[in-house]
Amino acid sequence: MVKNNLNEFEVIRTYFARQPLARPDVVLGIGDDAAVLEVPAGRQLVVSTDLLIAGVHFPENTAPAAIGHKALAVNLSDLAAMGATPAWFTLNLSLPQADPAWLDGFCRGLFALAGTYNVQLVGGDTARGPLTIGIQICGLVPSGQALTRAGARPGDRIYVTGTLGDAALGLLCVQGKIELPAAQRAQVFERLNFPLPRVAAGERLRGLASACIDISDGISADLGHVLEASGVGARIELPRLPVSPAYAGAFATLGWAPALAHGDDYELCFTIPASREPAFRRVSGELGVACSYVGDIEAEPGLRIVDEHGRDYRPPAAGYDHFRADQRS
Ligand code: ADP
Ligand code: MG
Repeated sequence: MVKNNLNEFEVIRTYFARQPLARPDVVLGIGDDAAVLEVPAGRQLVVSTDLLIAGVHFPENTAPAAIGHKALAVNLSDLAAMGATPAWFTLNLSLPQADPAWLDGFCRGLFALAGTYNVQLVGGDTARGPLTIGIQICGLVPSGQALTRAGARPGDRIYVTGTLGDAALGLLCVQGKIELPAAQRAQVFERLNFPLPRVAAGERLRGLASACIDISDGISADLGHVLEASGVGARIELPRLPVSPAYAGAFATLGWAPALAHGDDYELCFTIPASREPAFRRVSGELGVACSYVGDIEAEPGLRIVDEHGRDYRPPAAGYDHFRADQRS
């Protein structure tokens, strides 16, 4: 049994220095003043960080394993969007108390996902304070091959991985605003709490996609970032947006808004030039997830969303307010 009220060093030793994974490129990991990492010749280091604050990014009572998983998943998703292969991460943790049950669950979720992607915890900082998790992740890409938001050109096709809107649906279930059959409820909870970053897809898209982004804030906002960075516009067709059977079943209540404008799906949105379509088709079975064609890049700036009749889609004015900022958690 672990005693309660561990001190900072006991927390690090007991929980964070016990990851069941040791990469050969970690020259020095947890325990010294800094980590020393070997970057192979011909690779560039890709670095990203994300902060998760209890009550802001997840409800205070979220299961600790889900918090550990999600804190790393959102960072892995950023590397996936760059086409990078994850390698190492650091963990800055502010904790109200050193509760062994909480730390056990958190590390279980964190290290299970870290093991899946062979990414090693190499350092961090631990302090007492409101529950906040800051992870910095490092990955590698062959030099010059990182995917960015800036390369989309008119005529490129726009694709998304997986399905959109399930995390939104999960949140509506948690909030008691929608009812689903038990099996579907479990599926959308999984999407909300244990999102799977599309790392294999990102890696496979190197040299094929002209631009890529991960969908953390909804496809309309995130595709908007690609359009701005690339200096282009786009047209997407609502009936092409991929949604799950659970979402389709609740469509009469949901409409398109959650699939378009709510975040937390962590799918990839990317563009493929016509010249690379045949190569893309050949590898599409190796991405680890299905991809859907949703629209096209155009020269005229702005995002045009059209419905099944080819008419401009207008978001519901007042009818749908579940996602107001003050109701997120
Ligand atoms: P310093 O005072 O030099 O910053 P610390 O006492 O904070 O060192 O940390 C000691 C070692 O434990 C360092 O190698 C640090 O990277 C590691 N460490 C501290 N907190 C964490 C954490 N939450 N996760 C992983 N490693 C950590
Ligand atoms: Mg420190």
